[in-house]
Amino acid sequence: MSFANYKETIEDGDTVILFLGFDNTLSIRVNKGTTSQTRYGALRHSDLIGVKYGSQINCPKGWLYVLYPTPELWTLNVPHRTQILYSTDISLVTMQLDLKPGSIVLEAGTGSGSLSHAILRTILPTGHLHTFEFHEQRAEIALKEFKTHGVSDYVTAVCRDVCKDGFGVEDDMADAVFLDMPSPWEAIVFASKALKKQGGRICTFSPCIEQVQKSHEVLRENGFEDCSTVECLVRNFDVRTINIPIPCLGGIEDENTMLTNKSESTTENKIKCLENSLQENNELEKQQTDKECKSADNNDTFYSYDLVGRKTKDYFQVKSGVPPTTMPGHTGYLTFASLYL
Ligand code: SAM
Repeated sequence: MSFANYKETIEDGDTVILFLGFDNTLSIRVNKGTTSQTRYGALRHSDLIGVKYGSQINCPKGWLYVLYPTPELWTLNVPHRTQILYSTDISLVTMQLDLKPGSIVLEAGTGSGSLSHAILRTILPTGHLHTFEFHEQRAEIALKEFKTHGVSDYVTAVCRDVCKDGFGVEDDMADAVFLDMPSPWEAIVFASKALKKQGGRICTFSPCIEQVQKSHEVLRENGFEDCSTVECLVRNFDVRTINIPIPCLGGIEDENTMLTNKSESTTENKIKCLENSLQENNELEKQQTDKECKSADNNDTFYSYDLVGRKTKDYFQVKSGVPPTTMPGHTGYLTFASLYL
């Protein structure tokens, strides 16, 4: 199998994602003589060979699906050598760096290769990823994984300290640079050399705002423009019905509306009316959320707080010991900028 294309049936040596449930997936490397243990009992790899991807496989105590790996599934199953980027941040990085087939991308550090797989999928078949990792063992494992995953032609994985030695690539050759390391600002000067000077894009990923400020300073010193920082937060859809009195909507008057005099139907009145209505709805919603959280407390459920400080049931960690059902949102700040020299 290869992350670079798709095929129908499983062969010996393939990386396969076992889907046991939305919160329970597992990656295996198919090896004829091996048996994997799953929540539903033993799974003989020889039983998978020749089976179509997407099929349902029966195990002694239940069933699972065998899936072709995508970067998103790999992110959920990658063996962690480091902290990784998740698909929420990755999607924003991909879009904001304007990655597309043919893009030349520099990435440091490689870490566990979670982002690398997503970048590769986007820039194939004509682009190239140069990824740098100064930890020798991590660099070696990443290289091996790229080979196993059939993408080694599209990626150059190098063991190198980019803060000290730069990227070692030609000047003006990269469409985008992504930095996920403790001091990205130390590599920015090298990034500015490697990037195309007419709109090359850079992104730095930092968990704390002081690091972000430092990156902004150094980005500007090195000629980058349009510097902006975003934070990607996951929120559950919060669907509710709110009642808006007719005068708030457009001042249509009849005997049921609150406003009878035309002169009172001003924009100011409408806004005030809308504010009162929203406040009433918020009060009702707060009562409902408190009630839900109380019953959640009784069920030993964790909850978190949303952006305006209201208690919400936690969407990552539902109960202790139970794996998360949604991927984490905020793990850091993403700073983007463009180079025009
Ligand atoms: N983005 C990666 C992923 O999604 O899997 C995770 C990157 S991890 C958080 C940061 C990596 O940067 C670590 O593996 C670390 O060894 C590497 N690193 C830190 N400083 C570096 C440097 N100056 N040059 C190259 N790699 C570096």
